[in-house]
Amino acid sequence: MPDIEHATAVISMQDKATRYTAILIVHLLPITALIIGAQSLDWYVFALIWPLQLLGSTLALHRYFAHRSFATSRVFQGFLALCAATAFGDPIGFSGKHRLHHRHTDTDADVHSPTQGAWSCWIGSLVDFGYREEEVLRNTKDLCRYPELVWLHKHKYVPACIIALALFAYGGFTTVAIGLCLGAVSIIHLAGAVNYFCHTRGSRRFNTSDDSTNNAIIAVLALGEGWHNNHHYYPSSARAGLYWWEIDAVYWVICLLERTGLIWAVRRPPARVYQAVSLKG
Ligand SMILES: [Zn+2]
Ligand SMILES: [Zn+2]
Repeated sequence: MPDIEHATAVISMQDKATRYTAILIVHLLPITALIIGAQSLDWYVFALIWPLQLLGSTLALHRYFAHRSFATSRVFQGFLALCAATAFGDPIGFSGKHRLHHRHTDTDADVHSPTQGAWSCWIGSLVDFGYREEEVLRNTKDLCRYPELVWLHKHKYVPACIIALALFAYGGFTTVAIGLCLGAVSIIHLAGAVNYFCHTRGSRRFNTSDDSTNNAIIAVLALGEGWHNNHHYYPSSARAGLYWWEIDAVYWVICLLERTGLIWAVRRPPARVYQAVSLKG
């Protein structure tokens, strides 16, 4: 029996409707902007914010906050949290849910496993997290020590809304829709693609107790997150692609940040991981 109380419906129908509406609006805004015509300013803003959203979700939320695969200063940690917040993410909420995903992968207690159905895996689990707040907090005690992260957990939409207001004042509706929302939509679907395809399609290098796979297409699209079977075998590594040809753009950025001294104690796969590969032949 899992040591958590899992429930597929831990929020009220009203909250569920509100969250579905929010997700729908975030999709409709960029679609509308593309139909009525975007300005070049919108794409400049997109080019500025999208990399922060991508790295905020992959490097910050996944490899740093959820798996603590490197160490950094409190100031840079705060910057990483803000990057995540540009795509409506929050370190405590994501990490709690993600650590439970690793603990219960592809069982009934894994809220975004494809075994729960494609819709639930891709979108539904964003609306109904499947884990009670106490479970999330119990699994993120290391992050709950920081008041700024607790604040962001309680007000995770505030930074993105402030950015949206500033963009609206500066460039108008289409700047918000393309500059901010289009990137957020891409993050929703990249995460959905990893959760779904990297547990259903691809190859399995390691015989893990779950259905995780390595999927090269998702790895390219999601900056290295597609080496998911490698990742489930050795989750605390900052490096998901084990070899140079396993494209892992997030790891390359981590190496760059390590060189600048902004981050340190980067965790890499130990020799036994490579030995397991060669033993397998
Ligand atoms: Zn997984
Ligand atoms: Zn993970």
